[in-house]
Parts: sequence; C-alpha cells; structure tokens
Amino acid sequence: MDVFCSVIVPMYNEEEVIEHTYTRLKQVMDCTGENYEIIFVNDGSRDRTEEIVKSICRSDPHVRLIQFSRNFGHQVAISAGMDYASGQSVVIIDADLQDPPEIILEMIDKWQEGYQVVYGRRLMRKGESVFKKVTAKLFYRVLGKLTQVDIPLDTGDFRLIDRQVCDVMKGLKEKNRFIRGLVGWAGFRQTSVEYVREERFAGVTKYPLRKMISFAADGITSFSHKPLKIASYIGVTLSLSSFVYLFVVLLQKWMELGTVPGWASIVAINLFFNGIVLMLLGVMGEYIGRIYDESKDRPLYIVREALGYHRRDNRSIE
Ligand code: UDP
Ligand code: MG
Repeated sequence: MDVFCSVIVPMYNEEEVIEHTYTRLKQVMDCTGENYEIIFVNDGSRDRTEEIVKSICRSDPHVRLIQFSRNFGHQVAISAGMDYASGQSVVIIDADLQDPPEIILEMIDKWQEGYQVVYGRRLMRKGESVFKKVTAKLFYRVLGKLTQVDIPLDTGDFRLIDRQVCDVMKGLKEKNRFIRGLVGWAGFRQTSVEYVREERFAGVTKYPLRKMISFAADGITSFSHKPLKIASYIGVTLSLSSFVYLFVVLLQKWMELGTVPGWASIVAINLFFNGIVLMLLGVMGEYIGRIYDESKDRPLYIVREALGYHRRDNRSIE
C-alpha cells in the first residue's frame, strides 16, 4: 500500500523524550486514517535512544529506525530521513516536542489543497533563552538581506514537503546543508501554518553555541557570496583611507609641523589592519573550506543499521 505520509524525526541523545514523542505522533497520525511511517534517525546518540526506539520499532510496523555510525549532525539526519522516506508527503519534526505534532494535520490539509511546501512559522518561542531568541531573529533577518533566495523568516525545519520536492532535495548533494534554505531555493507552491514553539519536553538543547555558529555560517555561505564582496569593499576602503593618511603624514613632513615619533599610533594602526586582514582571510577560509568539503566527495552519512524498512540509497554505505 502506498505510504501517504512519512514523518522524519532526527534524534541525538533524546532518551528522555522519545517515548512521549512517539505516543503523540502516533495519536496524530492515526487521526489521518491513512497509511503512514515514522522514520526515527538516530544521529549517533550515546544514551538509551537506540534501545528505546528499537523496542518501539518491534511493536509498531509503522516505525522505522535509521542508525548512523556516528553523529553527523541534525541537517544530515534529516537528509537521510528524506532518502529513506517513501511517503507522498514528508514531514520533518524535531524529537523534543517543541514543534507540536498536532500541527501536522493542518499541514496535511494545506498539502491537500495543493501546496507543495507547508512550513511552520514560529509565532513565539517558549522556554528558550533570550540570547537564542535574539540571535535567531537577527540571523534570519541578516540572511534575508544577504541572499536572493526566498528563505521565510522565523521558520525552522518543521515542515511538510511533497514527494516531488523531496525528490529534488535528494538530488542536491551538497555537504554543508542548510535545509530550510534549500527548500526555499527549490521553489514550488509554498505556504505556512503558524504555531507557538513550545518548551523542550525534556532534556537539554543539542545545539550548543558552537553548533549554532557553524549552522549560521552554513546558512549564509550556502546562499550568498556577499560576505566575499563585503570583504573586498572593506579592503578597498581601508587601503584608500591609508593613502589619505599617508598624504597627511607627508604633508606634515613637508610643512615641517614636526613628525613626533608616533609609536602608539603606529601600533594601533597595525593592530587594526592586521585584525581586519585576518578577519577577511577567515571569511575566505569559510568558503574555501566548503569547496574542500565538496571536492572530497565523501558520502553524506554512514548508516550502520536500518530497521523496519528496506531501502538502499546510493548516498549511504550500509
Ligand atoms: N539533533 C540531531 N543531531 C545533532 C543535534 C540535534 O539529530 O547533532 C536533533 C535533536 O535530537 C532534535 C533536533 O535535532 O530532534 C533539534 O535539536 P534541539 O532541539 O536540541 O535544537 P534546538 O531546538 O534547541 O534549536
Ligand atoms: Mg529543540
């Protein structure tokens, strides 16, 4: 029988939430009265996530489990879920119940009206630190300014995509993936449903500052070359202003205004310029590093075990 909807749930050390998530997802999906599958992607968890999902998998034929050989990251886990999904529609949802599963029904309604991408727009984010809220808001606005791609503001990966869109995503082989941007880039008929982002049901965030920064860098560098342009504008402006300064110095010398040995100013200027140069090198490095990642052509992820489901994909090694 055709699968009506595949639900992808990436998990990294989610032992405290997974049973609840499963129960609530099951309730919601049973309401559709259609055939569905829930694909749990275990992104190299070190806790009891595997054990718990395995027992769920044994008792419920709707459940599949994809196990990575190590932690490959949230975006890669979602990509693997897409590779293994066979539904006519595909839903991506976090494991921690911050995205209420009940919204999936609204998404399915919109999909049946003919929309091919239905993303969840966060009206409010509960239980997240002020720092996270502010940086997230800022990030989406900066990203919007830097890129031509339509990436809707305040949306996460909680969304429904049509089979056709999922197939497009599967064809995109880039390694540093920013899925919400890729879906925006793909186009299709898109709409949103609004929801309030709940507090994490249990456990702690699996996105520490380090991962947030690299995620933001992926978002920007995957969809914009502007940082490189800005880098060269800064370079040009600075060298022009240093010429002006040189002129001033020469003028002082010619007019014999007294060239006081300006050790402090030299050091200050040096530090400033060196700082700028290093920063701009860093920007270049971000892009070069990504070119390097692409050129290695390693698989995006390695699957150690796939349960409840048989589907091989050329991107993974089993
Ligand atoms: N996650 C993952 N791999 C990672 C980090 C996170 O699969 O390396 C999953 C995590 O289990 C959760 C989702 O990605 O289902 C979002 O993570 P989290 O809720 O910790 O992020 P936040 O909501 O705090 O941004
Ligand atoms: Mg979360």
